[in-house]
Amino acid sequence: MTVKKPLPGDLEPIETASRDEIAALQLARLKWSLRHTWDNVAPYRRKCAASGVHPDDLKTLADLALFPFMTKADLRDNYPFGLFAVPRQQLRRLHASSGTTGKSIVVGYTQNDLDHWADLMARSIRAAGGRAGDMVHVAYGYGMFTGGLGAHYGVERLGCIAVPMSGGQTEKQVQQIMDFKPEIIMVTPSYSLVIAEEFERLGIKPDEISLRVGLFGAEPWGEGMRGEIEKKLGIDAIDIYGLTEVIGPGVASECIETKDGPVIWEDHFYPEIIDPETGAVLPDGDVGELVFTSLTKEAFPVIRYRTRDLTRLLPPTARAFRRIGKITGRSDDMLIIRGVNVFPTQIEEQILRDQRLSGNYQVVVTRDGHLDNLEVRCEVQRELSGQLRKADIQAIGKELQHRIKTIVGVSTLVAVMEFDTIPRTQVGKARRVIDERAKQN
Ligand code: ADP
Repeated sequence: MTVKKPLPGDLEPIETASRDEIAALQLARLKWSLRHTWDNVAPYRRKCAASGVHPDDLKTLADLALFPFMTKADLRDNYPFGLFAVPRQQLRRLHASSGTTGKSIVVGYTQNDLDHWADLMARSIRAAGGRAGDMVHVAYGYGMFTGGLGAHYGVERLGCIAVPMSGGQTEKQVQQIMDFKPEIIMVTPSYSLVIAEEFERLGIKPDEISLRVGLFGAEPWGEGMRGEIEKKLGIDAIDIYGLTEVIGPGVASECIETKDGPVIWEDHFYPEIIDPETGAVLPDGDVGELVFTSLTKEAFPVIRYRTRDLTRLLPPTARAFRRIGKITGRSDDMLIIRGVNVFPTQIEEQILRDQRLSGNYQVVVTRDGHLDNLEVRCEVQRELSGQLRKADIQAIGKELQHRIKTIVGVSTLVAVMEFDTIPRTQVGKARRVIDERAKQN
């Protein structure tokens, strides 16, 4: 699928600036952000004081390593507004995390924050090949979740047409896409497959679907899933990354010309990769926990916020900013099965290497005495459903089991099921892991 490369004039100057120019901007903004947080966020000021650091100690970007981290626990301890840095009257909107893990957390935005966010979402959509006048079907959930409204304002900011569909009502989603003929879709990767399945069910072929490109995020997905989505919808699938605490979607987003990992919008968010055990900053290229410091946020600044997402920083390619590799998973998604660290995305990658299997899967963890057992539930593609002999299905399962054992390093039970057996998530993020160990204790 070819999409017009952005003309140089389409890009903001900072997207093609030199690394020195970017570093100078980052340092000036970082000094402001640290000072703003120190002055207005008492819990963080106390943390700094306890570590014996002051904003004046920051002379270079590397000095950021002297400052304490913020964690999800800080957000929870100061729920709901304890870490806000502006008076209530300056707030224009609140959002909350979708609560994939633990209690939800609340964040706030000033008008400037909302403007920056819309600008960055517009930049992200443009990096994906979107242009003014394109119609964008937004199937991220609207509401407290940052996905729907975050995407929405970026669509409008770029001069595109927003279709605020939200999640759910899959039949209607498909009907509307066929009737309105949008060029772009924004949705979680897992729900995009549910939409793709509905197209298949109706016998609509990928080349009959108007969509040209999609921006997918809010949950981990691998290259195998990218291939599956691109094939089923006949589009380019672009990876967009973000999290509520840092701003929402649009912290980083991929460029269509390279599709080599989300470009971090480094003029607004300063990234670090740390060793999750020791907290030490790791060099670019090493895998560790992604940490962000906001450079321009007013209402809810974050300093060295530990995302718990595991990835690495990659050198700039299509833009002057660095990129992140695929998020392997969250440190709290990681399963330890008989001593082996396993991420659901590693299992997903192995499932999708078999063309006969669909991208819907679940991983079920149970405990048998002292041993953890991992069961991988997957489905055959729709066109094969009910068509395969028992022996073929067993063979698919055996092959997958073998691949997971040799590549991921863990023994599993594999259940290959008929199409549409695993429950689909209509709104929000897919539930890939069912951990039954706690219930069994
Ligand atoms: P919650 O923490 O409740 O899930 P968020 O909606 O803020 O709330 O989720 C942000 C998280 O979603 C990120 O920290 C990351 O783990 C995941 N995420 C978002 N975008 C991507 C992406 N493109 N690839 C992988 N994971 C992603």
